[in-house]
Amino acid sequence: NNQVKLHIGRQDELGELAKAITALSNDLDQLKNARNEFLSNISHELRTPLTYIKGYADIASRQDASDEEKREYLGIIREETANLTALIQHLFELAQLDHNQFSIKKEDVLIGELFETVANLVRPAFEEKHITLSTRIDPNIIALIDRERFQQVLLNVLDNARKYSKTGALVVLEGKLHEETIEISISDEGEGIPEEDLPYVFQRLYRVDKSRSRELGGSGLGLAIAKEIVELHGGCISLQSEYGKGTTVNIRLDRGAQIAEGAISR
Ligand code: ADP
Repeated sequence: NNQVKLHIGRQDELGELAKAITALSNDLDQLKNARNEFLSNISHELRTPLTYIKGYADIASRQDASDEEKREYLGIIREETANLTALIQHLFELAQLDHNQFSIKKEDVLIGELFETVANLVRPAFEEKHITLSTRIDPNIIALIDRERFQQVLLNVLDNARKYSKTGALVVLEGKLHEETIEISISDEGEGIPEEDLPYVFQRLYRVDKSRSRELGGSGLGLAIAKEIVELHGGCISLQSEYGKGTTVNIRLDRGAQIAEGAISR
């Protein structure tokens, strides 16, 4: 009797095992499909600027091109090269994130100082579009974060605020200290995002309007990278937007977790 039970038990176990293997292999197939789709999108993204660069280099080197035309074409080549460099840098960061090689070196960072650094870095690009960056911050907020990585998060989000705002608009960078969280928000009065696109904006390569984002120098990777970095800090990032009115990105860090990790007075 025992032998029969054992046999049945084994069959059940084998059945479960077979199910688990099927589920795993389905997961693997899905992963492979996602990877193939990502690679094919990426090759497209890399080819597009290269096509422009080659095309404009060809016509700029034609004998009959005027000096003015040459200057214009070289300007386009320079812009496309910058886009390509940014895209490759983003891809490199994502590859590091995927392979867990993205080291996070946490230190106590005065958020006010971080805001000053990023405000200085974005100033020329903001001024070019006459966009005002207003910074508001509760006094003495200190967070246990990787300064450089977090700077990158803020730069990615601020760059979107600039890109998708009209000339002369206002962008607000705000830091607040709540009882349990540190909140950083970036608000703009730009074009906003249609409701149906909102669930996807943190996905890699997702762009509401591909050609417009390209034209503005977007890679479709900025928010995906920001999300991964914030989550590596145990925080969360969210985005609210009203189409035609503006967008706010919120980053929240848990103060309790930070104190547990031995950060200094807060
Ligand atoms: P991109 O480099 O194309 O800006 P992101 O990953 O940073 O890529 O953002 C994904 C998409 O979300 C953008 O292409 C854009 O359509 C939309 N988006 C992000 N931030 C904003 C914003 N502040 N205002 C309007 N649209 C935005």
